[in-house]
Amino acid sequence: MKKFELNTESSSSEIFCGTGAFEKLPQILKELHNQKLFIVIDKNVFKYYQRKIEKVFRGISRQVFYYHLKPGERSKSVSEFNKLLIFFKKNECSRNSTLISIGGGVTGDISGFTASVYMRGINLIHIPTTLLSMVDSSIGGKTAINLDGVKNLAGSIYQPEKVIIDPTFLKTLPQKEILSGTGEILKYGLLINKDFFLLLKKRITSLIKNDRTGIEDIILQCARYKASVVQIDENDSGMRKILNLGHTFGHAIESELNYKLTHGECLAFGLKCMLCLSFESGLINQKNFYEYFSLLNLLRTNKKILSLDGKKLISKMIFDKKRNGVNPTFILMKRIGEIIIDYNCDSKRIAASFNKAKQLTAVK
Ligand code: ADP
Ligand code: ZN
Repeated sequence: MKKFELNTESSSSEIFCGTGAFEKLPQILKELHNQKLFIVIDKNVFKYYQRKIEKVFRGISRQVFYYHLKPGERSKSVSEFNKLLIFFKKNECSRNSTLISIGGGVTGDISGFTASVYMRGINLIHIPTTLLSMVDSSIGGKTAINLDGVKNLAGSIYQPEKVIIDPTFLKTLPQKEILSGTGEILKYGLLINKDFFLLLKKRITSLIKNDRTGIEDIILQCARYKASVVQIDENDSGMRKILNLGHTFGHAIESELNYKLTHGECLAFGLKCMLCLSFESGLINQKNFYEYFSLLNLLRTNKKILSLDGKKLISKMIFDKKRNGVNPTFILMKRIGEIIIDYNCDSKRIAASFNKAKQLTAVK
């Protein structure tokens, strides 16, 4: 098991990563012995791992309270947030209590948000159980709930005390969620360095099949990289934006398809569009462009994405950005690790990039 830290001006988080890390929880959380623990857990995860989870927490404290969260984005609601607060109050959750979230991004987001406001903030620990949350959302302190149909409209930045990543949980993760996490990992393939890119090139096909050989190292490199970026720019005012590589297109695709496809699946295509836009803008050379694109092509693209109308997608994307008070600029790249934020592009070039990405996508 590896351990590293994420230090910001106001907080310090410890991140543990390794197969079997969950069973080591009584040691990792020894300072919490016999304190009140509030476990907010995804119902599917509880179903698969109930015995193991109850056993581990029994070894830590006699005061463990479970809140079972219905899977799915709908649980990131104001009403669920309210229920959680009431649950904490009824069970006399105090400033010395700890909230432990066990699940994917949905569980982590609403747990983090609740932890950040209950009594103006209580201890928070994340135990991510999806590939996407292991490599991305459990690190960096972003929390959110949805409001009036708008995703993540209310939220905060609230760093967890600890994050415990145990890839053993991936054994039961559905295939489409593995693919989703892989999409986010591919983003790191373009951000970290060439060695990591080449490692992914070798491993991606087995990764998709949920062959977990070497997964620990891949997760560790992504999580470490994300932590290093958040340390520099916790509040998303500058460098942290690079973590949104491919997300302008990705989010627009997700929203156009009414969130029927996973985040990572849409992001993977968003990264292709970003590469095309970087190429069309003369930032990336032809050799690198084709090399990077071929890695992304190892992940199958859903036909629904290929049938989207480019023009409609782009005008909506620009409209949404303006409405949110954000400049319709892009995060593009020159080569692996050389990222340019706030790049201006006209809608014609954006549409051309979407179409190019479509053309270069091998339909399997
Ligand atoms: P994300 O991290 O992608 O935001 P979600 O929190 O939306 O993920 O979870 C995606 C789905 O995966 C949900 O249906 C959830 O119940 C399920 N899930 C999460 N972790 C596991 C796991 N380890 N095994 C099986 N299913 C899981
Ligand atoms: Zn993402």
